[in-house]
Amino acid sequence: MPSSVITIDGPAASGKSSVARILAQRLGYIYVNTGNMYRAMTWAVLQTGIDPNDAETVRATAEGIVIESPVSEGQTQVSVNGRLLTAEDLNSDPVNRGVSLVARVPEVRARLVADQRALAELGSLVMEGRDIGSVVFPESPLKFYIDASEEVRAARRSAQGHTDQVAERDRLDSTRKTSPLVIPEGAVVIDNSHLTLEGAVQAVLDRLPSSAPA
Ligand code: C5P
Repeated sequence: MPSSVITIDGPAASGKSSVARILAQRLGYIYVNTGNMYRAMTWAVLQTGIDPNDAETVRATAEGIVIESPVSEGQTQVSVNGRLLTAEDLNSDPVNRGVSLVARVPEVRARLVADQRALAELGSLVMEGRDIGSVVFPESPLKFYIDASEEVRAARRSAQGHTDQVAERDRLDSTRKTSPLVIPEGAVVIDNSHLTLEGAVQAVLDRLPSSAPA
């Protein structure tokens, strides 16, 4: 079977990462969390002490940062200049505050989008993010957009113990000039406000062509 890419987009804390991870396990596909690539770039930019609001300095600094996505246990990890980052690094409060500022820089996006496309050479993927169905793999026939109400999303993030400006990140992600968060053309929209995790995974599986392994 030729490799395929299932794209999953949606706003912050909609539950799309959990759905994408389990879906990938069930299908035997590689799980790619592209938010972690933007988070890794933000972590690296912050290490240099520069202000993430300063787009020109972010662009110039990002040029010298090497981001790699080695696969381990069915999912991509992310490293910066050879150092594998931990969940604590990627989800720290400073990274939460800065990531949408770094992710709006067009040159940062162009580079990470190229890296994301190259991952398809590894095999079939479940890739989640903000622009996967609209920009990274617009030709994929398997596109999903997982949404949830703002209240449910804020509650999910605080239950995970993170201070996160979910509404502010969504505002920045939806209004940026380069590849803003949109519902991709042809995507199936799933409202995850009141579904269990298993229910949301099943909602995606139900819409896959029957030839895909379940
Ligand atoms: O998915 P997560 O919430 O971890 O993503 C963190 C941030 O990375 C988003 O708020 C967004 O600014 C950026 N992002 C993006 N494009 C993607 C994935 C994430 O701009 N494909």
